[in-house]
Formats: sequence, structure tokens, C-alpha cells
Amino acid sequence: MQSELKFFNELVTKLLEKERSEPVVEPLPTSSVIADLDLGFSDEGMLEEDWQKVVENAVMHTPRTASKLFFNQLFGGRQPKAVIGDLLAVILNNSMYTYKVAGPQAGIETAIIKETCKLVGYTDGDGTMPPGGSMSNYMGLVMARDAKDNTVRYAGITKRMTLYTSNTSHYSTPKNAAFAGVGRDNIRYINNDDEGRMNPAHLEECIQKDIAQGHTPFYVNATAGTTVLGAFDDINALADVCQKYRLWLHVDGAYCGAVIFSEKYKHLTAGMERSDSFSFNAHKMLGTPLSSSVLVTKHKDQLVKSFSNEADYLYQTGDEDFDLGITSIQCGRRNDALKLWTLWKSVGNKGLEKIVDHQFYLADLAREYCENHPDYTLYSFPDSVSVCFNYKGIDPKHLCTKLYEDGNLMVGYGKFREQEFVRLVTINATNGKEEIEQFFKALELGA
Ligand SMILES: *Cc1c(COP(=O)(O)O)cnc(C)c1O
Repeated sequence: MQSELKFFNELVTKLLEKERSEPVVEPLPTSSVIADLDLGFSDEGMLEEDWQKVVENAVMHTPRTASKLFFNQLFGGRQPKAVIGDLLAVILNNSMYTYKVAGPQAGIETAIIKETCKLVGYTDGDGTMPPGGSMSNYMGLVMARDAKDNTVRYAGITKRMTLYTSNTSHYSTPKNAAFAGVGRDNIRYINNDDEGRMNPAHLEECIQKDIAQGHTPFYVNATAGTTVLGAFDDINALADVCQKYRLWLHVDGAYCGAVIFSEKYKHLTAGMERSDSFSFNAHKMLGTPLSSSVLVTKHKDQLVKSFSNEADYLYQTGDEDFDLGITSIQCGRRNDALKLWTLWKSVGNKGLEKIVDHQFYLADLAREYCENHPDYTLYSFPDSVSVCFNYKGIDPKHLCTKLYEDGNLMVGYGKFREQEFVRLVTINATNGKEEIEQFFKALELGA
């Protein structure tokens, strides 16, 4: 390993320097990437020197998602303490299913879940770390399905079960409905208000209609931070409806659920303790490497019922509280906990709060910039880290593609009610005021 580690250190040092001097790599066309970078295989292996060259080439041509000019998705930057945790997880290479092989690593995941339950307000909750936010939502949906009809796990679905999510919620819900055997056609897409929040009155109307038709409503997916606008559904209002019709309320906080760490912004998820399950992605707002998702539920028993299975060849020591495989979707499972723990331990709850608050501060700065410059039209609302705007009326799709192809800036576009716009996401908490100004400068120069 020693020589590979030396190579690793040298290569990473080079990459970090390059990220500073050249924050955006020129994109390689998909038609030539395999040939240009020699990505294919041959029967014979490679000389060490050639192998290093080919690895270095692939690394240096990879889009730089941690640089100060990457605003393209709902992650960015690099929290060094979290990176070290993830590198250690690779070196340790535990599988998270049992205490016997994971030891303290299972304790670390358990500590994260306990503290998350406490912050959410689930007094006797439990949870797991699924492979991403989409899978967290899947697990929420499966628990809801089984809670409504306990026979499904054995007999399969026999009724028409209906579920509810807003028009602007994440696309994992239709996929998950298909995976869970509930079916995409049984999703009701609920209207939004003008700021992108689910309309509770329309939700109730749809539920009543389904009941009148003899269907079985079972699940409402609320969003804490919608993918495009960053809007927060009114959890209390949705919980009222769910309570009345006895539906499971899941809160998809993949994007902005980490506001639970902030005194200033946790009001955006007020009523959280009334939900049945909740998830957030630490690899979004908290800036850990991909992926680190936390799913918690108030119903400990349901998590076990929906996801456990007997396996004598695996569970051999009876450490049930730390045999995390009992409540996970996979068997062998990578350690997504350590990177969040190394960061969280280092900065404490207050440090995570600072990370979250800083992103709202940056978004406020960006909104202010748009408001003060007549070339910009703003489409975004306060209390959101998605800043949506157009510049000089330029088609946002063309603008973003041009900025990317010219190697100026990586930023994406979105849409709400037929209006398309550029979406600047201020999720990289290692950025400051300067980087936000630089974003606008790069955009204006490249436009
Ligand atoms: C990102 C996101 C997801 C999906 O999370 P992955 O980890 O990418 O699977 C789900 N819901 C919302 C609102 C998101 O922003």
C-alpha cells in the first residue's frame, strides 16, 4: 500500500492546486471520452508508470465539484473533516450489518440516528443510513405501505393503495411507487401555492375522492426543501390531514432537512415531531462526501417489520441493538456514517448550525445582488438556498450550456409553472461573499 498511498498524496495535491487555478474543467465530448482517456481494457496489465498516467488523466479531466465555481447540483465544496472520515471508512472497509464486523462503526451510526431522532422529536425512534435520499424515501414508503396493510409483505398488494406528493416533489416518488408494487398511476400530484408549497386543501380533496372510490390512501410525502425552488411544505397543516385520515407522513428533507440543526431556520420544519418518518442528506447541506443519508422513524417496530429477515449465517452474536443489518435495505453495506461523525464530532451541533445558516446568508446575498442589478429577474423566495433568476432575458438553457461548454461556470436551470430560470444553489458552505460575487462576474462575462 505504501507506494500507492504516496501516489495518492501526490495526485491529490496536484488536483487541489488545479482546482484553485482552474475551477472548471473543459468538458470532453461523450463521443470521445473512452478513447481519449484510454478507459477501455486489454488482456495484459499496465506498467506502473503508465497506470499512474492513465489514472491521473481520468482524475484531472473529471468535473470539479468541490471548486468555487461549481453550483450545478445540490452538493458542493469539501468539508475536510468529513473527507478524512470517508477515506478512513474505505481503509477500514467494514460492512455495517453486524456489531461483530463493524464494532464501534455500528456505534457511530447508532449515535447519529439517536441524535437525529432527538432533534426531530421522535422520543423512541430508530433509523438507518440508506444509500441516498431516493432510497430513504423508498424505505419511508414501504413502511407506510406495510403499516397500512400488514399482509402485503407476504401476500403482495391486493387493494388499490393511493399516495400523495406535491407537483414539485422529487422524482424518486414515482420510481419508488413502482418498486413498491403500489404503481405510478396511484400517485396523486397535489397542487402548489405560489411559493411552491403543497396545498393542504387540495390534498384533502384528493384523499376524499379516493376514499369515495373505494381506494386505500396510505402515504403523504412532504418535502423540506423542494429540489428546484427549495420550498418547505407546511408540515403542521399536512399532519392535520394525515391524522384525520390515518395516513403515514414522510418528510423528504434530502435537500434542506438539515435545518433541524439551526435555531434560526428549524421553524421551516415546524411540526416535524408529528411526522412518521424523516430523512436528510448530509452530503447536501452538511457538505460530507456522497453519499450520507439518514432516515429516522417514530415507529421502531415498523422499521424492523418491514426490513428484517432471519439470517442465521449472518446474525450470530445476538447484539441486536447494534446489528444494523436488521433494519437496512441492503445486506453488505458501506459505512456512510463515519464521514458525518468525524465532521459532527469536530464542530459540534453548533458547528453544523453554522454550516446551515451560512448557506442561507449566501442565498440572501445572491438574492440581494439580483434585486440590485436591473439585468436580473428574480424568481426565488426568502428562506431558500435555491436562488432562481434570469439574466438579460437570455434563455437559461442556452446560458447554462454555454457557461459549461466554455469552461466558465457550472450552474443548472430549473422550472416552476412554465417559467424557466437559472438556479444558483448556495449549498457550498466553504464559499463566502467573494465567491458569490465571482459567480455573477463569471456568468456576466461568459453570457
Ligand atoms: C436530492 C434529493 C433527493 C434524492 O437524494 P439522492 O441522495 O440523490 O438519492 C430526494 N429528494 C429531494 C428533495 C432531493 O433534493
